[in-house]
Amino acid sequence: MTTTPAIPSVLLTEPLALDLVNTRLYLTDSDTWMDVLDGREQRDAWLGALAPRLDIGAEDAAAVTDGDAEALKAVREHAAAAVEPARHGRKPPARALSGLNEAVRAAPATVHARWDGASVTAEPRRAGSLATRLAATFAEETVQLLATPDILDVRRCDAPACVMLFLPRNPRRRWCTPNICGNRARVARYYLRHKAPRASDSLS
Ligand SMILES: [Zn+2]
Repeated sequence: MTTTPAIPSVLLTEPLALDLVNTRLYLTDSDTWMDVLDGREQRDAWLGALAPRLDIGAEDAAAVTDGDAEALKAVREHAAAAVEPARHGRKPPARALSGLNEAVRAAPATVHARWDGASVTAEPRRAGSLATRLAATFAEETVQLLATPDILDVRRCDAPACVMLFLPRNPRRRWCTPNICGNRARVARYYLRHKAPRASDSLS
């Protein structure tokens, strides 16, 4: 029997570009790769939680098909390829940047004025299919992140084998998910430090 793992916060609370890149994650507990965009249930849960930041409704989040997910995977590939060198101050591949530009161009945002009962609100709106709009939103957020000095602060989780990227608000943050990776790393360090010099020593 398989269960749907809970969506870790590092896929929900980082800049959208990193939330997207992190959907292809390595489960250190089971030594397996997992793709949140591949499983209907977890994809719906992830997009549903992000819906307010993506300017889509909850019903849209649940309407994303496997075909739509391929468009998101394409943007994810370009985002991952661009973020990695850029966070080290290096030039991203031209193909990644043109892929992101293309996705934005396919559904550019325009401002829509709306009376909300008390004041006028300016809402970004994109035309096009749901997949095209979502791809454009993630691509644009990635371009914005790449273009700010924040990109140089993006770091990879310190836990062994963990591939998660995050933008630390606290410069001392080292792990993607403190109560998962942080503890694992602490336990690993403890174990190495206390590695038994005598066969009779034991952690248990
Ligand atoms: Zn981690």
